Amino acid sequence: MLKQQTTPLQALKHPLFNQQNISVFVKREELNHEQIQGNKLYKLELNLENHLNCDKKFLLTFGGAYSNHIAATAAACQQLDITAIGIIRGNELASQPEKWSHTLQRAQQQGMQFIFISRKDYRLKSQDNFIEVLLQDYQQQLADNLLAELQDAYQNSQITLLPEGGSNDLAVQGFTPLTQEIEQQCPQWTNLFCAVGTGATLAGLVASSAYQNGRTIHGVAVLAQGDYLKRQIQHWIETNKRHLQTNDWQLIGDMHQGGYAKISDELQNFIDTTWQEIQDDSEIKIEPVYSGKAFFAFWQKVQRQEFPSGSKIILLHSGGLQGLAANLSEK
Ligand SMILES: *Cc1c(COP(=O)(O)O)cnc(C)c1O
Repeated sequence: MLKQQTTPLQALKHPLFNQQNISVFVKREELNHEQIQGNKLYKLELNLENHLNCDKKFLLTFGGAYSNHIAATAAACQQLDITAIGIIRGNELASQPEKWSHTLQRAQQQGMQFIFISRKDYRLKSQDNFIEVLLQDYQQQLADNLLAELQDAYQNSQITLLPEGGSNDLAVQGFTPLTQEIEQQCPQWTNLFCAVGTGATLAGLVASSAYQNGRTIHGVAVLAQGDYLKRQIQHWIETNKRHLQTNDWQLIGDMHQGGYAKISDELQNFIDTTWQEIQDDSEIKIEPVYSGKAFFAFWQKVQRQEFPSGSKIILLHSGGLQGLAANLSEK
């Protein structure tokens, strides 16, 4: 429904790969769609299909001002003619549109409407009565007719509430076409790396990939103290797995570089130097918040010679380049 094109699995080069006899590829999902880029496309696919099939009236979802999920949702909802409301962290932005990020400006142009809420209320977003509270406490941000329509839709269960990052069971299930594509492009892969925010992408890859003895899927937590994510990831895998036996997986918890969106000198140096060497001038752009950290974690394992000879390693480029553009333009 959403995907524009099948993306290449592109080989990377480095003398260390030859020495260790490993093959390394990037699965270039940053190219799957101009705007609904990367892993967010797979997470949205079944959720939006469900929204349309159930004839819901509004899609509400959450994010910060630079959120890749907000950007992707706005673009996808425009494409499918779905009315989308973004609930954005930071109520100070409500009265200061001149401070809106590039991400928010673009989402608005694509038809998304916003409700800006306080950081305190944002934390309550998974509570059952959240929408009720929202429509009460933030009604001054909504035009009268929109408020009335939202209240009506809420009474009639016609609102889809998509969690932060778009992460839920349907999101996890949405990765099946991606793992099938990878299977066709490289049937003998042994290792797969991805960045982990909520872990829905990691869970989706584990839940949907075909089992092979010796395969491991490595998720790299991009936030500090990500260990708590393991239980949810395990639960998502158990609930959504497509094969009796699932591949081994691990959550790498010590490569976050200080926390979410924190960039260490080592990481910046990897992106500016090593990454340029590895990808051999093919201009595969990566950003430091997600794929940069995941690929750096892979690189450290190469330096420690952790991969057995013959390994076929895939790095999942999960997109996120809109955030890079948004950040750069505001620096
Ligand atoms: C959102 C995002 C992730 C994290 O995905 P989760 O499913 O939340 O773990 C990884 N990479 C990019 C580029 C993202 O935008």
